[in-house]
Amino acid sequence: MLAVFHGCICGAGKDGRFGAALPDTPWSVPVLCAGTGRAPIFFILPPCIFLYAMAPCTLVLNDLSVRHDLKGHPESELRIAKIGSALSRGRPSLGASPATMDDLLRVHMPEYLSRLEDLSARCRPGGVAFLDSDTYVVSGSWDAARYAAGASIAAAGEALSGRPAFAVVRPPGHHAGPVYGMGFCLLNNVAVAAAWSLSRVSQVAIIDWDVHHGNGTQAMFYDSDRVLYCSVHRSPFYPGTGSREETGSGAGEGCTVNVPLPAGSGSDAYLRAFQEEILPAVCSFDPDLILISAGQDPLADDPLGGMNLEPGDFGVLTELVCSAARKPPALVLEGGYGPSHGEAVMEILRVLDQWE
Ligand SMILES: [Zn+2]
Repeated sequence: MLAVFHGCICGAGKDGRFGAALPDTPWSVPVLCAGTGRAPIFFILPPCIFLYAMAPCTLVLNDLSVRHDLKGHPESELRIAKIGSALSRGRPSLGASPATMDDLLRVHMPEYLSRLEDLSARCRPGGVAFLDSDTYVVSGSWDAARYAAGASIAAAGEALSGRPAFAVVRPPGHHAGPVYGMGFCLLNNVAVAAAWSLSRVSQVAIIDWDVHHGNGTQAMFYDSDRVLYCSVHRSPFYPGTGSREETGSGAGEGCTVNVPLPAGSGSDAYLRAFQEEILPAVCSFDPDLILISAGQDPLADDPLGGMNLEPGDFGVLTELVCSAARKPPALVLEGGYGPSHGEAVMEILRVLDQWE
């Protein structure tokens, strides 16, 4: 199978898993599936791609994430500790700066920001409050969340400068909406980054592969024709949104693409979703920037996800996005709670480090 999209051409692998071989062409170059042991995927690239210099992935870290922590909760600083070995590989890294109120107000309403800041400020050290049954706030949450959003902006800035970037941040963000936090999320990091980018470029695409639908991100851009939001997620599942019928409204009609998958879905289903629905939509939209809500909780060993991906599959998805977009993406960490999460992050970074 050779999928021909508007504005770009994406090919499938030669191992028969994704389809038949591509025709020979001087522009067809193998991109190795790092560490997966699979046959390479072949992409057709224009000659100009060889003019770019290597641009290894920039990491953007949130050193203040440790201030938002609750022992025994699945969304704790232990998540970062578990993937720490994947981060210390001599790659360029940036420290985060906090998102400004102007940054946050592009997507969140002032009453929600005030409520969140006040709730965090009123927590005593060691105390905890809850936005909902599973979304905690502690005394350091406001600062940690603002730095996570700021790190996501920095990652977007790197991508706009031609370098792939990964904001390895917590707390996550894609469930947080204009006036609410939920599902472990306080501020919507990827949405803050997208809105910041729209003051510099015309159009942004957000690809969300977290196992949960990013209801907050969708809500923030549902009527916008400047943001394409594409999500592949388990359904039915938390938070209950993300049906195929949710396609946007007003000027944004057609700018929301949801691909719900049943529990237990694996690499074949995800590859179909990307090759047949998400990547054609992205290529047709022709964004200036691609952001990825990178939640690795579809991993088979994730305690919350119930899907069946392996770490190498995230490298494959990253390759597909990079090939289709021909622009360096900026990734923002969302979920991912299982023992192989660090390995999946490593697979993603290996691919991004090969960006040329
Ligand atoms: Zn998730």
